[in-house]
Amino acid sequence: MVDRQLRRRGIRNERVLAAMLEIPREEFVTPDTRVSCYGDWAMPIGHGQTISQPYMTALMAEALELTGGETVLEIGAGSGYAAALLGALAANVVTVEIVTPLADLARENLRRTGRDRNVTVIRADGSTGFPEMAPYDAISVAAGAPEIPPALLEQLRNPGRLVIPVGGYGHQDLRVLVKDGAKVSDRVAAGCLFVPLRGADGWR
Ligand code: SAH
Repeated sequence: MVDRQLRRRGIRNERVLAAMLEIPREEFVTPDTRVSCYGDWAMPIGHGQTISQPYMTALMAEALELTGGETVLEIGAGSGYAAALLGALAANVVTVEIVTPLADLARENLRRTGRDRNVTVIRADGSTGFPEMAPYDAISVAAGAPEIPPALLEQLRNPGRLVIPVGGYGHQDLRVLVKDGAKVSDRVAAGCLFVPLRGADGWR
């Protein structure tokens, strides 16, 4: 997975590549999809939601440029896999999940793999962020938003980095926003396809 899907497509950050090797993806998927869980695709995790393709998870983590001391907010815990990865790259991770059984699943997967040491799962609507633990050095949104939720930029530290898929149901741009001083830069890292971000500042 790391050589064929990640290195070959341009993931260069060695900490990200090492973390992708370290996190046991099979512990975050359903029993019937375990055999194919290192494949180059997203997979169903129940409740109409998916665990992202490994490349997309790695690309998002790389875009955050984590060095180890950061506090990170993830929106859309799903299986807890990406949160475990972020936990291996940063000091603390808060991951928010709107679907209660998936919040429970993420919590259980993180506990079983010993990744709950620095990763906390919150059952809530994350489209307005999670102000209780703000500011965050980095924010990763794992569901497609119609627009960038203003609360997420407010809860981002200065300097800080936000990665978020923005667009319609059939296609989104993976956008990387970097807050630095008075400026916020905004670039498109890739085209992508995520499940919709629901909630107050998502799709109603
Ligand atoms: N990061 C996950 C993949 C998540 S898929 C993994 O590695 O497995 C996107 C998730 O976002 C879904 O679980 C969905 O329920 C959740 N979601 C959608 N809208 C949300 C919202 N407003 N707040 C929190 N979670 C949300």
